[in-house]
Amino acid sequence: MARRKKIYEGKAKTLYEGPEPGTIVQYFKDDATAFNAEKHDVIEGKGVLNNILSEFFMLGLGQIGVPTHFLKRLNMREQLVRSCEIVPLEVIVRNYAAGSISKRLGIDEGTQLPRPIVEYCYKDDGLGDPLVTEEHIAAFGWASQQDMDDILSLALRVNDFLSGVFLAVGIRLVDFKIEIGRVYEGDFQRLVIADEISPDSCRLWDVKTGQKLDKDVFRRDLGSLTDAYSEVARRLGVMPNNPPAPGKPTLVN
Ligand code: UDP
Repeated sequence: MARRKKIYEGKAKTLYEGPEPGTIVQYFKDDATAFNAEKHDVIEGKGVLNNILSEFFMLGLGQIGVPTHFLKRLNMREQLVRSCEIVPLEVIVRNYAAGSISKRLGIDEGTQLPRPIVEYCYKDDGLGDPLVTEEHIAAFGWASQQDMDDILSLALRVNDFLSGVFLAVGIRLVDFKIEIGRVYEGDFQRLVIADEISPDSCRLWDVKTGQKLDKDVFRRDLGSLTDAYSEVARRLGVMPNNPPAPGKPTLVN
């Protein structure tokens, strides 16, 4: 097979030119990073789990009419997505306090917030993705007011959907991050959910025990990350046929 053209290599994924114009292949790597890539490790099987979990959430969102960039899963590590222009914002939705909001505002981790809170960070690794306000977003032209209205409503719909799906399997959705893409159809632009939705970008706590089932397991050295992500996949009924066994080689496509 001819070598595919690599478009971009990120911390957890590599993007290749897709087979048709306007398509991209997202390859999910096993790399885990935290604290702006200061902590890095390769975790056997993480990419396989995130590929399958992200497919599951994107398909579910599509079914309730939330547009996403997802087209189809190609194999254990790759999915075909629509090429889009990424809005340079990390959109964070929080239901319970944890992580940076707990530090910033001195709220105990696990405190339920009065209502879902949506925050925006400017996507810039060099700056450590700083928190920004809508005033910055408008002034620097990162998104229009119409875009921001649409982004807020998309973020809240994703939150309602994910919260329900997780709660049904005994998992509390504490917070998550999404990225938004623009796709152009003739003269029109549409916003879609892009990137990935996986335990890498969510905080997920077991409802009964409070056990963490997300990337905090890696950030805070709380045990096996693959065990945590496998548990999420198992509860959601999307465990891959050949689940990654710790210490055993995994088929890499
Ligand atoms: N998040 C992410 N990528 C980032 C920053 C945050 O996926 O670059 C996710 C993170 O996993 C968590 C939520 O967004 O689910 C809120 O993260 P927070 O602001 O608390 O930052 P952290 O404590 O992770 O640095």
